[in-house]
Amino acid sequence: MNDNNNKNKKLPPSGNNSFFIFLIISVVATVILNVAISSLTAPKTKEILYSDFVQMIKNDEIEEVVLAADKIQVIKKDSGSKTTTEKLLKLWGMKDNTRQELYYTGYINDQRLLPLLDEKGIKYSTPIQYSNPVLEFFLAWILPLLFIYGMFFLVSRSLSKKMGGGIMGVGQSKAKMYMESKTGVSFRDVAGQEEAKESLNEIVDFLHNPMKYTAIGAKQPKGALLVGPPGTGKTLLAKAVAGEANVPFFSLSGSEFVEMFVGVGASRVRDLFKQASQNAPCIIFIDEIDAIGKSRDNQLGSNDEREQTLNQLLAEMDGFDSSKGVVILAATNRPDVLDKALLRPGRFDRRIIVEKPDLKGREAILHVHVKNVKMAPEVDLHEIALATSGAVGADLANMVNEAALRAVRMGRSVVIQEDLMEAVEVIIAGKEKKDRILSDNEKKLVAYHEVGHALATAVSKNTDPVQKITIVPRTMGALGYTMQMPEEEKYLMNKDEIIDELTVLLAGRAAEEVAFGVKTTGASNDIERATELARNMITIYGMSDKFGMIGLESIQNRYLDGRRVSNCSQETQAAVDDEVRDVLEKCHKTAVDILENNRTALDRISEFLIEKETITGKEFMEIFNKVKSENLLDEQTADDVQETDNNLCDF
Ligand code: ADP
Ligand code: MG
Ligand code: ZN
Repeated sequence: MNDNNNKNKKLPPSGNNSFFIFLIISVVATVILNVAISSLTAPKTKEILYSDFVQMIKNDEIEEVVLAADKIQVIKKDSGSKTTTEKLLKLWGMKDNTRQELYYTGYINDQRLLPLLDEKGIKYSTPIQYSNPVLEFFLAWILPLLFIYGMFFLVSRSLSKKMGGGIMGVGQSKAKMYMESKTGVSFRDVAGQEEAKESLNEIVDFLHNPMKYTAIGAKQPKGALLVGPPGTGKTLLAKAVAGEANVPFFSLSGSEFVEMFVGVGASRVRDLFKQASQNAPCIIFIDEIDAIGKSRDNQLGSNDEREQTLNQLLAEMDGFDSSKGVVILAATNRPDVLDKALLRPGRFDRRIIVEKPDLKGREAILHVHVKNVKMAPEVDLHEIALATSGAVGADLANMVNEAALRAVRMGRSVVIQEDLMEAVEVIIAGKEKKDRILSDNEKKLVAYHEVGHALATAVSKNTDPVQKITIVPRTMGALGYTMQMPEEEKYLMNKDEIIDELTVLLAGRAAEEVAFGVKTTGASNDIERATELARNMITIYGMSDKFGMIGLESIQNRYLDGRRVSNCSQETQAAVDDEVRDVLEKCHKTAVDILENNRTALDRISEFLIEKETITGKEFMEIFNKVKSENLLDEQTADDVQETDNNLCDF
């Protein structure tokens, strides 16, 4: 690495060059300004003969004479009629020199002049320097110069912000260079993602001792593509590589290649690779590469600039010699739209999957983020990790911060478990909305709805236990919710579990019907989720008796909540809809049965919930078990409960 070289290159575009150009422009502008002003304001003067001058005195045509060292200035008498401007100027005590006729003549040591002037009563004087010449020079030259230069500077700065690199900098690579000390991120800061770290470690190791690899004849991979959902730590991983590798690290976001001028992106790519090869060994990191790497055969919205940039990138990746030690990393969450040419061996031939973290990963990420937060000793991060299935690193970082903010709001000096749990809920359901007052009737409906979910959960075998039930409204629209807490991380779901989950989802609406005989809009989200799950079960998971294991739908954009695409005929789609409805109807019926069989528990727990607004899973189970044991005395009811349990499985 040659640091000096880099420093020169890293000068901002408004560096030396443009300083001089601006200076020259400003000087020229100031000269023009001064000439223009003096020619506009200077009185018009005419040269006359000395003899004519004497004649004019004798004819009484002169008002005033100014005797300067080398010439005599002559002011003729007013010619009578005055314009309004003149009158106005006079009113303000000013003299309009521009309209007076002025003459001058050479100076002659003429002894007769003064007596003659006295005789005719003509005023005479000699010019006095009213103003300070330094001040005058400053006002006329330096000030405008500074002003004009300042204007240029501001304009060019705002332009360069908009277009990147200023007028002079179009086409220059804007890659930021990160060195170890600058990112301050190392693999220790990236929790979980062990597989990704392992792959990247190999690259780092290659940059450190290439001999180890070349001795065997192994070639260094040219590029690696980090692929995964947003917020899983792809950018963070790349920065960590920079920290670990201790080599120059050029980081650029895909969108930064694309400017309003065609060809700029391509020249940026060229420039970037030139800089990189001068600094080899080094790492180039292109974040969000899908901005330029989109497949070229996409007819809709084809984009010349992007294609040129991509072509240049492909060419450069082929062109450079990987033995020199330039490694290209890129990150994207849309690998499916990338051009195939980018992905072939010899380009981004290595794909590093950065998945959503599992239970262990989430716990590790939480540990990383609580490092700088004061935590109460009894905080149990394992529990938080359990409650946040599906959350990515960015969510967890956010949660820890929310918890810390809440602790401050509550006037505590450390974060306690309750803060963290509340933060989890804020992320899932939004903030509590204390000022929304529900009418008693609505409160009752919401309470029964939520307890309906909870009871279905308690009765079904394959569901996670209830953690909390609340009817405090939340900002994201929920009027209440039931939180379930898994006891362990699950990676697979079997059909029974899906059926149970559907039953739980539909039990909210079922409770409204069983208790009040009404249907409310509160169940819309439940229905949406249940429908999607039921549809997946049939079209994607192959769990339908009618269709068997045919894949009827697929998901596009797996890493960003993808759209589903149907792969079947319209007739089949209609049949799928029927099947989905059948499944949902059966589950709904099961839910109604469960609630009718547990009517006493439903009433009792709902009353308790209306009074408390929020109850824990433990309180819920206590009441539920109490009601059950009371019912056990009555044998017939006990049989009913038994039957309910069987109901769940006979689907
Ligand atoms: P993306 O995958 O979208 O590029 P980022 O790398 O920008 O995600 O991650 C955003 C933030 O989330 C990081 O700054 C970090 O605080 C946090 N984060 C994400 N993944 C992890 C992880 N595995 N370990 C620690 N923090 C993480
Ligand atoms: Mg990113
Ligand atoms: Zn619900």
